[in-house]
Amino acid sequence: MNEWDAYRIRIPKPGERESGVSTLEEIYHVVHPPEARRILELGKISAGIVYDESRLNVTRTHVAWLSANRWGPGSIYGTVEFTFPWLPLIAGRRFYWVEAITTYNPPAYRILATDKDVSNLTFLKPYDPSVDKGPLRERNGSWYWDHEDTSEFLIDRDLDLSECVNFQGTAHRRDRCRMHGRQCRELETPHYTTGGRMLSFIISHDIHCIDHVFKSRVPPGIDRPLSYEFSNGISGIWFAFTVHKDARFSGDVTNRKSSKAIVKGALALHGADQEDAARQLTRMLKNEETFLSALQEVVNDHFGISGWTYS
Ligand SMILES: [Zn+2]
Repeated sequence: MNEWDAYRIRIPKPGERESGVSTLEEIYHVVHPPEARRILELGKISAGIVYDESRLNVTRTHVAWLSANRWGPGSIYGTVEFTFPWLPLIAGRRFYWVEAITTYNPPAYRILATDKDVSNLTFLKPYDPSVDKGPLRERNGSWYWDHEDTSEFLIDRDLDLSECVNFQGTAHRRDRCRMHGRQCRELETPHYTTGGRMLSFIISHDIHCIDHVFKSRVPPGIDRPLSYEFSNGISGIWFAFTVHKDARFSGDVTNRKSSKAIVKGALALHGADQEDAARQLTRMLKNEETFLSALQEVVNDHFGISGWTYS
């Protein structure tokens, strides 16, 4: 009897759908905005020691946490989502069953993927996804996972953002936060609002470690230089600076250079969650058109392109 037996999945036959089972192609690291800003500044997700009730919390093992789950009601981990492709992350690694946390609802199963010698950690059980019948299975190069429970994959290395394939704001679960409980300030924040704040931070701080994601994730047939997720974030910026009840333009600045500087400064404040101060700054601009054309130039400058327009 293995602990993973309770999470056993059946691999679907060709053309068949198996309830509770999905193919595994991408996994996600979700955090709150302050942590996301640190990750963007560092250009990587740093592996850290384990603090919670895990069997690993008495070890010096440093891990990065990822999950394959995306929950309809929103995430309990935060509002900013970094996406990584599964296969490159686990290349050359062996799997170990760590534990199941049954006090979570739904329960969480934790699997470590490592290329290190962990034989001193005797509580880890080697888990071979092509043989063992638990919540993670592999057959003929295809991977499957149990999506009815909470998947938690632990990778014992830093994850460089050059490996990241998508980045966006995501909805928080409204009634629960793993980090901050009911005190979490992000419970009600729409995904485009967070996406807008993150874009503001990236652009105003000249952070380029995630640019490739916005440039490469453009859907086929779409005549736009940047991704759908980028447009979503821009709609958050547009909303905050032009639609919000406190948004207005009452100044006389129309000069191109000055308006770009004002917009970049406002984005820096917005990216630091100082939305009111950010709007105060853009009031110096003459009108919405001045704001949007400056934003357009600031975005094109950041990506070294000329074809992005806000409309
Ligand atoms: Zn939260």
